[in-house]
Amino acid sequence: CFLTEGFHSKRTVSGAYIVKQDMKKGTCDVAIVGAGVIGTSTALSLARLGYSVTILDKNKGPGAGSTSYSSGIVRSFYSILDSVKLSWEGYQYWKNWEEFIGSKEAPGGLVKLREPGGVILRTINSSRFLDKCVPLMRSIGIPVYEWDYQTCIANLGKVGWDVSKCYKPLRIDHSDFGLPISGVQPEGAVFAPNTGYISDPMLAVQNMKYAAESVRTNGNKNANFLFGRQVVEINQKNGKVCGVALADGDYISCNVVLNAAGPYSAQLNNLAFLDSNINDMKFETRPLRQEVAYCNGPEGIDMDKDGFISIDLDTGCYFRPEVGNKLLIGGCKWGIYTYLCAFHLITMSFMLTESSIVF
Ligand SMILES: Cc1cc2nc3c(=O)[nH]c(=O)nc-3n(C[C@H](O)[C@H](O)[C@H](O)COP(=O)(O)OP(=O)(O)OC[C@H]3O[C@@H](n4cnc5c(N)ncnc54)[C@H](O)[C@@H]3O)c2cc1C
Repeated sequence: CFLTEGFHSKRTVSGAYIVKQDMKKGTCDVAIVGAGVIGTSTALSLARLGYSVTILDKNKGPGAGSTSYSSGIVRSFYSILDSVKLSWEGYQYWKNWEEFIGSKEAPGGLVKLREPGGVILRTINSSRFLDKCVPLMRSIGIPVYEWDYQTCIANLGKVGWDVSKCYKPLRIDHSDFGLPISGVQPEGAVFAPNTGYISDPMLAVQNMKYAAESVRTNGNKNANFLFGRQVVEINQKNGKVCGVALADGDYISCNVVLNAAGPYSAQLNNLAFLDSNINDMKFETRPLRQEVAYCNGPEGIDMDKDGFISIDLDTGCYFRPEVGNKLLIGGCKWGIYTYLCAFHLITMSFMLTESSIVF
């Protein structure tokens, strides 16, 4: 049965729930908390499997949480086999997006995976990570190539990347900030051609919402999205989840609650396990500030055509081409990471202009 026939109730002052008369009795199978990339893709899969799903998000629309801020990089560089497999599986969906969504007609159009390939500099420090992930990638057939130093210069030099120096991750107010490590240069790089990006992750979530809402059983939608609705309680009966209470006083009955609350997922777990002694989830999450800078591309270089997704693990800085010959630079702090990127990019003076946008 479906949410439109849902069992909704209002909470009384005493804390008990009473059924709202204007709603029919019923239940949805799964209440998903969070309409980001995780919640919405899960909703789509569950809807296609025939489950009735209600997706609740405190934001005003789909993908408006951390998903909307994502740099959208689709990579398989991971140091755990399960993560490599999962990301490679995910890549296939991004690659065959139209087939996955099942339509060309989604409002706003379909997102497109762009694949410039991804490069990680091989240095003394990054080798520890790369020596784990390259064999794992190869073990499941992901193309990945070692570039020696000369190949690095040839391939990265033409997009303005100076790979002759290595840097330390230092705060901008540190006296050594910006000074290359004396006598040290990268050994080479690792290149994975099937590394790409989705320019508009929020649109990707809208695409999946559209696909999920298109799934019907006996004429009823399997997936119902409710926005501006914050889950404030997760209720249990006889040791089983039975529903969620919302900040506006509404109540939605369900058999399963799926936590897709992104950075807030630890807070949501705490709602489910009021007694922390029985909460066996050991991972903690919390929202953190991350910044991404959008800049004009280097003059004379066609980033769309020639740019790579470039990662320097020593400094923790990455940058990638952005549609329209722009450059996206990622890290935690504009002040630090953008300048670190600038050290590598010999033509980077272009980016410290008024046209740069910082989120
Ligand atoms: C700057 C930045 C760059 C990134 N770059 C990349 C990248 O290049 N590649 C990559 O793979 N990943 C990247 N990530 C990580 C990626 O964005 C996240 O892992 C992903 O978007 C998480 O999706 P999600 O659906 O789990 O969470 P979110 O998108 O955050 O969705 C969670 C939703 O839950 C809702 N919610 C929370 N609590 C409640 C509640 N109590 N009631 C109702 N709703 C609730 C929130 O409103 C939110 O919309 C980046 C992240 C950031 C911030």
